[in-house]
Amino acid sequence: MEKRIIFATGNEGKMREVRMILADLKLPVVSMKEAGVTGDIIENGTTFEENALIKARAVMERTGEMALADDSGLEIDYLDGAPGIYSARFMGEDTPYEKKNAAILEKLSGVPEQERTARFVCAIACVMPDGTELTSRGTMEGRIAYEIRGENGFGYDPIFYLPECGCSSAQISPEQKNELSHRGKALRSMKEKLRAYWE
Ligand code: IMP
Repeated sequence: MEKRIIFATGNEGKMREVRMILADLKLPVVSMKEAGVTGDIIENGTTFEENALIKARAVMERTGEMALADDSGLEIDYLDGAPGIYSARFMGEDTPYEKKNAAILEKLSGVPEQERTARFVCAIACVMPDGTELTSRGTMEGRIAYEIRGENGFGYDPIFYLPECGCSSAQISPEQKNELSHRGKALRSMKEKLRAYWE
């Protein structure tokens, strides 16, 4: 079979981002669904890297093909790093982000700007059929805003203020987000590791 990369996500938005960033590897990138992988994968790791590895291992074991996975989240320093690896599950997986974002603004109400530091973190894992495991990490630093702003992006973007842009990460274009984002950085770093592995 032709060599390809299976990316362990069901999220179409993420697939678009990943395909754009990995395009120059000149390998087809397919989603779990496109590869016919079904069933849940229990993410019970304690770090972003562990969770990404759990997903990539599960997909490689089910397909025998090279698998990539990511795990990401928002770390808020004032909340001791929460919601962190629980970002998707914070207040319940199905709770709308307007509610989650409003709850975070409430928790930080009255907290001064210099104590509102936060970052998006993304870990990428790659598991090869020969058992080789690679991981990479990217971060995007910012602050928790005072209000919800912007329509682009997803999740916590409308409350994540990017000082270098003077706006929230929901107010920048998808191209600019790929350039600056934790996922963009982690994917570009993974691309370099893959090139070194193949050399
Ligand atoms: P997962 O990596 O798909 O498990 O999701 C992690 C969760 O972190 C997402 O559901 C979002 O809540 C949050 N998150 C990760 N990356 C971003 C981002 O770029 N913008 C906004 N929220 C994000």
